[in-house]
Amino acid sequence: MSQTAIGIVGAGGRMGRMLVQAVDNHPDAILQAASERYGSDLIGQDVGTLAGIGSNGVLLVDSPQTVFTADRVVIDFTVPSATLEHVKLAQENNSPMVIGTTGIDADGVAQLAKAAKSIPIVFAPNFSVGVNLMFKIAAEVAKALDGSADFEIIEAHHKKKVDAPSGTALGLGEAIAAAVGRNLAEVGVFAREGHTGVRDDKAIGFSTIRGGDIVGDHTAMFIGEDESLEITHRAKSRMIFANGAVRAALWVADKEPGMYDMGDILGLK
Ligand code: NAD
Repeated sequence: MSQTAIGIVGAGGRMGRMLVQAVDNHPDAILQAASERYGSDLIGQDVGTLAGIGSNGVLLVDSPQTVFTADRVVIDFTVPSATLEHVKLAQENNSPMVIGTTGIDADGVAQLAKAAKSIPIVFAPNFSVGVNLMFKIAAEVAKALDGSADFEIIEAHHKKKVDAPSGTALGLGEAIAAAVGRNLAEVGVFAREGHTGVRDDKAIGFSTIRGGDIVGDHTAMFIGEDESLEITHRAKSRMIFANGAVRAALWVADKEPGMYDMGDILGLK
């Protein structure tokens, strides 16, 4: 089988470097191009060296348009504004995309959905196999306990994370809300302080912890009168996200235009 050509935008970031390693580890994938933001002092550096796998001859460029070609899948774990620019380049050049950037607002997600009419895009708040299984299990539990338990989500991440609650916590909330016919935009409670009044039975609450180097912990709590159930996932390394994203890139390379997520790739739908 021939190798799938990969481009990585934001390849100098925490996830970008993991992605470079994950592509290198996969026998069916080959890294062809990598970019960083304009003005970054990493421009011109060998991305393999930067990622700790030794020189691979792929130099970081600040011209993302050279990364997007029709025969390459581009993986993007950057920032919302950059991802929305990248998706335009993907459309112009017919490049399939794998997007892991979180914190993209509703308008931005609508732009991705529009682009997915002409190119295939895998967009997921979390690329780990365990978390995607957790989404499925939590939805089943919510269905079984609807009306007899309160649903709360707790997440903890490293202190450099810039968005809250995490995209994964929101994804978990969406999965639970959809399972019981609620709209997260209406029932989500994202902060509590002062005289909040009693808890609404339909609420789905979120609590956020930030500190140190926590890669990502998520707990879904189902709290009843005399018993409660908790489902917890702990990420121990960013490599789980990078490996999932490379798996998604290989999967999406020959797909029809559309918006896909990890549930499609893992056969969880
Ligand atoms: P990071 O800050 O270490 O890396 C982001 C990189 O993007 C930086 O190197 C930055 O310079 C680069 N960048 C910014 N603008 C750019 C542009 N216009 N062109 C090219 N590069 C650009 O952050 P991180 O921890 O690697 O996380 C990146 C994103 O991925 C965040 O949104 C994070 O929440 C998300 N994330 C998603 C998953 C998942 O499984 N979906 C897992 C981990 C992190």
